[in-house]
Amino acid sequence: MIKISTNKTIQTDLIILPLFEKDQSPIALPQAVLLDFKNTLGATQMVYSNQGQKRILLVGLGHKQKFGPQAWRQAIHSIMSYIRTLDVAQASLVLPKVSKLSPVKFMELTAFGVIFSHYHFDEYKQEKTPRKLQSLELITKISGKKINQAIEHGIIIGLAANEARSLANHPGNLVTPSHLAKYAQELARKYKFACKILGPAEIKKEKMGLLAGVAKGSDEPARFIVLEYLPAGRQAENKKLEPIVLIGKGLTFDSGGISIKPADRMEEMKYDMCGAADVLAIFEAVSQLKLPIHLIGLIPSTENLISGQATKPGDILISKSGVSVEIVNTDAEGRLVLADAIDYARAHFQPKLIIDYATLTGAVLVALGDQLAGFFANTKSYDAGFKKAAATAAENFWPLPMPEEYKEHIKSQVADIRNVGEKGLAGATAGAMFLEHFIGTTPWIHLDIAGTAWTMRPKPSLAVGATAWGVYLTVDFLRNL
Ligand SMILES: [Zn+2]
Repeated sequence: MIKISTNKTIQTDLIILPLFEKDQSPIALPQAVLLDFKNTLGATQMVYSNQGQKRILLVGLGHKQKFGPQAWRQAIHSIMSYIRTLDVAQASLVLPKVSKLSPVKFMELTAFGVIFSHYHFDEYKQEKTPRKLQSLELITKISGKKINQAIEHGIIIGLAANEARSLANHPGNLVTPSHLAKYAQELARKYKFACKILGPAEIKKEKMGLLAGVAKGSDEPARFIVLEYLPAGRQAENKKLEPIVLIGKGLTFDSGGISIKPADRMEEMKYDMCGAADVLAIFEAVSQLKLPIHLIGLIPSTENLISGQATKPGDILISKSGVSVEIVNTDAEGRLVLADAIDYARAHFQPKLIIDYATLTGAVLVALGDQLAGFFANTKSYDAGFKKAAATAAENFWPLPMPEEYKEHIKSQVADIRNVGEKGLAGATAGAMFLEHFIGTTPWIHLDIAGTAWTMRPKPSLAVGATAWGVYLTVDFLRNL
């Protein structure tokens, strides 16, 4: 792990110097360098000094007016990607003067960004990418307990997000529902929160017929993971706090079932458990930050495969709450397992709020692209808090509607509802409205992260693979409730 600290003066031989457009460099540089350095956001230029071993990495921050968490995450990503190519163990990052963010927020985001962008998944490669950087000092005049704590928090959230990325980046032959359950148990033991695992017999006993129906096609037994975090002390009193329930879709591989997906890019379907990974990472961070909230995590986990036992199009499954569902397309399985989890949440707890994280629909990718998650809610109470947290974390979403008249789309001729909407019409909305059918009056936010949970092309602030989209956002949202 990389060590992050603050210092008032530069002590290392690699100086990282981010500059806004038209900024004066605080370090004297040759005129020719300043002519060449373009200073657009994320641009880098190395300058070698003939005094000793010193070198200076110039990093563009773009326009000062446009600067914010998104730009800073991008700049840090450029820095960390560049440093990976160098043979240096220590570096000094001269923090720019930033007016739009408080020093505490800026410090936390910096530490988060460094940890997040230092991450590299190469566990299955014989040739590893060397990680030479051991420590990074942040050069700043600001210091104090709050600043150190902000760095510590940024590291905690960054490491938790990286855990979520690894869990999702590992292949489906390792990360099965049982593996996910074991991981959850180990995490709970380490960070001292409760964890209960339901297997096929208990899932049947709980009458979760939708989850069981999806799991039928796989030899891997399904798991339903229940996490509970309570702030330390006064357990009995805290237990009475109305919990916030986080539900994460945990399809460790989704072939589509009998309604099989095209072979092209099917390997990406190991990422269909990114929602589950998010929930686990949020628990990891929340328990270390000791937030004063009562938090429940539910992860319905299974594979969606094909066998002689698999659920078929036309089959009718019964949910935990007794709703009959006509299965029109077996690839619309995420909403099925989530619906049983929603029923479980409402039967066992009195949730103040349910938030679900699901790589649910390809349609959300068509509507919003791969840098905005779909946001659906049956309440406006949390809109402002969510927006603020998204801005802090630079994890962006866009609200999508659930209009009453589209309820028609999920009507079935033979059952209470069917598991897909009308062909080619508002698919992300149909997914959300299916879940809405189960939510009743419980305040609820649904995040369709099918476009943002992983990326197969490098983005300005993201490496290829799982992104842990939603982890930082949610932690920030929860601590400001
Ligand atoms: Zn599917």
